[in-house]
This record gives sequence, C-alpha cells and structure tokens, in this order.
Amino acid sequence: MAFIVAIDGPSGTGKGTITKLIAKEMGLLNIDTGSMYRSLALKCLNMGINTLDNKEKIIEIAKNINIEIKHNEENQEIFLDGENVTSKIRTKEVTAFSSPVSSVPEVRKIMVDMQRKMAENKSVIMEGRDITTVVFPNANVKIYLDASVEERARRRFAENMEKGIQMSFEETLKAMEKRDYDDSHREAGPLKIAEDAIIIDTTNMTIEEVKDEVEKIINDSKAK
Ligand code: C5P
Repeated sequence: MAFIVAIDGPSGTGKGTITKLIAKEMGLLNIDTGSMYRSLALKCLNMGINTLDNKEKIIEIAKNINIEIKHNEENQEIFLDGENVTSKIRTKEVTAFSSPVSSVPEVRKIMVDMQRKMAENKSVIMEGRDITTVVFPNANVKIYLDASVEERARRRFAENMEKGIQMSFEETLKAMEKRDYDDSHREAGPLKIAEDAIIIDTTNMTIEEVKDEVEKIINDSKAK
C-alpha cells in the first residue's frame, strides 16, 4: 500500500537534503514542492512579471505550466516546459519571487492538485510548507523540521557560497526572515505546525542525526 511521509518547515532546516537521503535509502519517491513554486516564479520572471500586480496573468501561467520532476541515481532534476531548470530556480531573484507567487490561493490550488497527482498510488516523501496540513493531512508520517533563524541563515549562506551565489550573511538573514514571515502569515496554505506533527529542532543537530531521527520515526510508524 502507498505510504506517505510529509515534511514541512521553513527554509534552511535541511528538508531538501534529508528527504533526498531518506528517499534513496528507503525507496520512496522524493517530491520537493518548493521547486514547483520556484519554477512558476522563474516562468513569470522570464515573461517580465515580477510583482503580484497582475494576478490573473500569474494564475493563467500556473494553469498552463508543465513541471516535471525527474529522478536519477543521485538527484532530482526539475523540467519547466521541457527545459532543465534545476540550477536556474535557485537564484536569489527566483527565491525571492517564489514566496509572493505561492501566496495566491488559485496558484496553491493548482500546485496542490499537481502534487497529489504526482503521488498517486506511490510511496512518497514530500516536503514543503503545507504538506502536513493541506496536501496530505492524513499522511502516515508527519514531521515539522525547525531551527533558529540564525542557524538556518548560516547554513544557507554556506550553501550559497558553494554555489557561487553572491549574498552577504546579513542579506541572507534578512531575506530568510522576510520569507519566514510571508510564508507563515498568508491566508492560503500558511506554514504552520500540524497538531499531530512530530517536531524536530535541528539547530544543534548534524544532517546525519536528523536523517537517523526521521528514519526512526518512519520505521516506528511502519511497525505499528
Ligand atoms: O522550499 P523552498 O525554499 O524551495 O520553497 C520556495 C518557496 O516556495 C517558499 O518560500 C514558499 O513560499 C513556497 N512554498 C510553498 N509551499 C510549499 C513549498 C514551497 O508555499 N509546499
């Protein structure tokens, strides 16, 4: 029977890295829903849309967008209308615009439907902001990953340096605080902790420790 692991949390909690590792070890399909909102933001920016002034147009784009997540041995690659945009969706401009586009209720509805379809009859590990609350409130396992904003900004800053993305620590921290605020204060699908989610504070944990803890929770749930 299909088994669903839902993981939510703000950015910089290690959600992406951890779900990737667990998917590989436990044979689950990994779906990074943030990459879908990022792809929509990229498409809008490519068309010269960088504000929410023309919501109708953004909804129209979302309705017709073609997003595919392809999995190979090591990674998941994101295709937007047939083009591999795996790196293009990680720029600071796309990151900044992904939060506003994701606040549009009609956009969320389209994305949530797409996410449920991607998971149909499959055992998946899906991560985002509203997976435990909206997309799969009845998931077999529901986890909320957290960490202090300073620690998350430190992690993102180091990651950006590795990728060659130029952003000072202060700028990274500010952008993260803004995205946290916007993501948790919107009306549709806000980031919040589901009542029955297990919370893991990763501030002082290594990736390996978080991965082990999540795997233990999954195994315990399967044994029930
Ligand atoms: O997780 P990631 O940082 O890639 O997500 C980019 C943005 O997409 C988030 O800041 C959030 O606004 C949005 N998002 C969302 N719902 C999800 C996943 C991401 O609103 N399930």
